[in-house]
Amino acid sequence: MRISFSSFETYQNCPLKYKFQNIDKIKEPKSKEAIFGSILHSVMKFVHTPGILSPSLDQAMEFFSNLWNATIFENPDEERAAFSQGVRMIQDYYKKNNPAKFNIVDLESRFQIEIGKEGEKHIVSGIIDRIDKTENGFEIIDYKTTKKMPAQEKVDNNMQLSVYLQAFLSRYPSERKNLSNLKVSLYFLKHGVKLSAQRTEEQLQKTEGKFLETIRLIKEEHFEPQISPLCDWCGYQNICPMWKHKFKNARKIDTEEINRSIQEYIDLKSAITITRNRLGKLQQKIFQYMEQEGADRVFGENGIIAKSKRKTYGYDKEKIKALLEPLGFWEEITKIDGIALRGILEVLPFEVRKSLEETKTLEKETETLVVKKG
Ligand code: SF4
Repeated sequence: MRISFSSFETYQNCPLKYKFQNIDKIKEPKSKEAIFGSILHSVMKFVHTPGILSPSLDQAMEFFSNLWNATIFENPDEERAAFSQGVRMIQDYYKKNNPAKFNIVDLESRFQIEIGKEGEKHIVSGIIDRIDKTENGFEIIDYKTTKKMPAQEKVDNNMQLSVYLQAFLSRYPSERKNLSNLKVSLYFLKHGVKLSAQRTEEQLQKTEGKFLETIRLIKEEHFEPQISPLCDWCGYQNICPMWKHKFKNARKIDTEEINRSIQEYIDLKSAITITRNRLGKLQQKIFQYMEQEGADRVFGENGIIAKSKRKTYGYDKEKIKALLEPLGFWEEITKIDGIALRGILEVLPFEVRKSLEETKTLEKETETLVVKKG
């Protein structure tokens, strides 16, 4: 099987989205966030493309403006805010980095690595944003344009960086003995922060295991939807069983009656919760009153409330098995409790019934209130 890192990541976030994208081949409209991200990636590539002179900040800005796509935004305010944010990100990048000082080995470097054992090999592919030569080794960098920046711990275990390092090592196998000088980094352009980490042999091996497990799940066709905050950016909401009903007006297939039923069901469910809480409070008050008056029944205008004791028994499974198995009844018992046993009690000989009774022990006794109306 061939799987790209981004498809693997999609599967991890939502198996159903993976299916829509990779198996059903349904095209997903690109979100404005994704388009903004790819523009910034192109700017970074432009900034670091080796040449006689590195592009200046003004040249980088001009490149950014030429790529800008204003049509993807809903209104001029949103478009202006996004453009200014892009400008700020590039200015900040230049403030903290001098592009001329990096020793670039490769940009947007495509890779394919083999995983699995003989007879069941798979190909993992992807694109590494940037590979730099450092003083003692190399650095692999991936740019992020996300709002959220993870904790260092997440970067230490980031799967994408592990895969990228594996890909790097398959291209430069002699660097495997130099692991301590190979850096993997995520550069968060919105924050102007780069978080770096290293990898051990053990971590790299675990990466392959996670891929193989995901491939197994895909082959077994596990494609359950996974609701998460990422659904907000998913282009398949209108066909996803978890969301498509929200688009009912566009589909025009819902009748007034079903709409009313949905609303009424939600209202009734909320009313049940409110009633249950109120009943609990009233029960407490009535129990207190009965206790104080030494009464086991209280009389209202529309009925009587009486205390009732409920006993729960526990059963010794081995003893019951020893009694029922010789009579051929053991197989009929799927669960050992009073209800299940009651079903067969009447057909059992008196002696066996008596012995069964003796195996039970009182586990708990609770008091409840029963209402007799009228
Ligand atoms: S909307 Fe959410 S649950 Fe549905 S496919 Fe997309 S990510 Fe998965």
